[in-house]
Amino acid sequence: MDYLSKKYLRSRKIPSTACSGCGLGLNHKAVVQAVYELGLEVEDVVWGTSIGCAGRQTFGTWKGDGFAGTHGRVYAIARGLRLTLPPEKKIILTVGDGDAFGIGLLHLIHASRCNADMTIIVNDNLGYMSTGGQYGWTTPHGSKTDSSPYGMYEHNLMSDGMDVLGVLKHAGATFLARHVAMDGQRAVESIKKGIQNRGLSLIHMVFPCPTNFGSRELGTRDTVKIYEWIENQAAPLGQEKENTVWATGVYFDASNSRPEFSESIRKNVETIRRTAAL
Ligand code: SF4
Repeated sequence: MDYLSKKYLRSRKIPSTACSGCGLGLNHKAVVQAVYELGLEVEDVVWGTSIGCAGRQTFGTWKGDGFAGTHGRVYAIARGLRLTLPPEKKIILTVGDGDAFGIGLLHLIHASRCNADMTIIVNDNLGYMSTGGQYGWTTPHGSKTDSSPYGMYEHNLMSDGMDVLGVLKHAGATFLARHVAMDGQRAVESIKKGIQNRGLSLIHMVFPCPTNFGSRELGTRDTVKIYEWIENQAAPLGQEKENTVWATGVYFDASNSRPEFSESIRKNVETIRRTAAL
């Protein structure tokens, strides 16, 4: 265990039970690094997790307070907590692409609409990999999965000019970024910005799944091959190539520009109390 894991994570949960070569640990490390660089302590953060590989591997790892939500519902729980927790307490959620962009999308849209202060890290393994490797709503077009043996054929949230971050921008989220797990410090900087925003922040982080995605799409679990495959199709925003699927960097930054959910509710309650007392 390195210094960061010792400081912030439960030793009995590290290393996680993720498959050998899984890129999820890189995402997890980037979040913990961002927390550290912001000077936050264990008691400053409440960490929520969801279901699937992302939720299972990060569940219970945070040394401080935490919670787990059923598939896609973690944002609703976080909104409730936001109302009860002191405003300075940070809420960080590690969820998967199913939690965020499939089953949980409606909850996520409503959390964005009201700009509830939380930082969501969407760990995207490009489909439903914890259940064996079915395609999902960010699986690149043409990719072979267990349920698309001839290639991903459905329109989804990352095809034909669609971008799920655009959906969330228009829903009201105030900080949005995208990275791949190998982005290192660039990803850490985006996560730091997200945590500092008093509102809903989401960082979409694509990571390599050698076991169920690499084995179907590339015909191999060779870790290097799946890492290269992702990296070849990622490029910083503004430097996209013809084959770029994931443009990385800050997609939208309207940090601290809209009233935050719990603040608005508290203000409204005060106004109602004052008015009612007259
Ligand atoms: S199935 Fe894929 S995403 Fe899930 S832990 Fe294994 S390598 Fe990681």
